Amino acid sequence: MRKKTKIIATLGPSTTSPKILTELIAAGTDVFRLNLSHAKIEDAKGIINNLKASSAKLKRPVAILIDLQGHKIRIKGFSNKQFIDLKSNQNFILDNALKDYEGDDSKVGITYKDLHKNIKINDEILLSDGLIKLKINRIKSNKIHTTVLRGGRLLPFQGLNKKGGGLSLKGLTKKDIADLKKAIKLDIDYIAVSFVRNKDDLIAVKKITDKKNIGLIAKIERNEALENIDSILEHSDGILIARGDLGVEIGIELLPAVQDELIGKAMDHDKLVIVATQMMESMKTNRVPTRAEVFDVSNAACSGVDAIMLSAETAVGEHPIEVVQEACRICDIAEKTSTKKIKTTNSGDSFHKIDQIIAMSAVYGADKSNVKAIAALTETGSTPLWMSRIQSLIPIYAMTVNEKTSRRICLYRGVYSIRLDKIEHDHARANKQVIKLMEKQGAVKKGDLVIITKGDLMGTSGGTNALKIVKVGKLLEV
Ligand code: PGA
Ligand code: MN
Repeated sequence: MRKKTKIIATLGPSTTSPKILTELIAAGTDVFRLNLSHAKIEDAKGIINNLKASSAKLKRPVAILIDLQGHKIRIKGFSNKQFIDLKSNQNFILDNALKDYEGDDSKVGITYKDLHKNIKINDEILLSDGLIKLKINRIKSNKIHTTVLRGGRLLPFQGLNKKGGGLSLKGLTKKDIADLKKAIKLDIDYIAVSFVRNKDDLIAVKKITDKKNIGLIAKIERNEALENIDSILEHSDGILIARGDLGVEIGIELLPAVQDELIGKAMDHDKLVIVATQMMESMKTNRVPTRAEVFDVSNAACSGVDAIMLSAETAVGEHPIEVVQEACRICDIAEKTSTKKIKTTNSGDSFHKIDQIIAMSAVYGADKSNVKAIAALTETGSTPLWMSRIQSLIPIYAMTVNEKTSRRICLYRGVYSIRLDKIEHDHARANKQVIKLMEKQGAVKKGDLVIITKGDLMGTSGGTNALKIVKVGKLLEV
């Protein structure tokens, strides 16, 4: 079963062994995420090597995404206590002078020194993913005096957000820059930038990644990012709708509308889009998802997103393999039964690039005929990227000798990546090679029509300029 919507699995302590990685790929994981809020960049090399070995064993390319921590504001810890219980209407102080473990039932330290300069009386502060709500009633020197509006159990070092956003924080921290410099030395495919405010945060990352051929994903989790979404999309390869922090900032009731809007915006710009956070949360402990989770994943798949992301479900959950299998099943059925029209042409009035013209002709032609599959012989992956920017019922098999390309395209909706050891340079032989591979994959059978796209000079970048329609079993003998 090969669904179009891709699955990103976040790796955690229990999921980095070669055995589990192999099982996760076999279950249908397309992209693996290393979250530097928890994992150390120093451990990435070993994990990447394990992943490469598993991927080679299964002959299934997978992509690697490194997620920078970004500037997440947190409370500090408590002295002699695992947690505190905050009661509604009690007073509570956020004090930047308190050290890591100096908090108690009435006060706690915070990791952002200038918080008191960025807030005002009556603002709401949310702790622990919005579980706890505080209202500011006095700011005296560095101490922020609040009343607890919604109480609850507060664990140490939980996140802190201001309702409505607006904190003057740079996107990239010193840790991010240090991590990034180490990350680009590794064989990785995507970098996700957390808490992006505007294009400047992405330009700063691009200065470091430079010519490294690493995809840039902007995590949309701050209010400011919504205001700057067009320029963020222009300066990135795609966005990740980070519903955890975003929901705390804008209010969870606004998430469905904002998610739809962001998906639409990404499509307007022909960019990648990922939906993340709590997609299958209950499966951290349960073996079956809730009905609401089935609707959520299904809705994302029908909206035409490139991928859904699993976070704690695979990083610390008890059933990482089952959750991937379940997510794949839901996406597969959703795609097959959906009647929703997504997008039928690339953005803009006309096509400017040759590979884009070929890509659109292939997908449009295949959709309007009885062509069973498209094979895109590609060097950089740009033709299958164009193909995947519009809705299509036809599977796209992207074949490449370039290992990096074979991984990068794993995130593209509806594109199945096949790594070739070598490509025949003679066109008739290449056609045979392609069809043989597709028959082996069970994608086509004798008598089926297949569209093959490729370049005159195969093996060179940006060279796709040809579209050929062949009938399986009726190829020119060579
Ligand atoms: P995180 O981002 O998993 O890095 O917190 C996702 C989110 O905020 O939803
Ligand atoms: Mn986040």
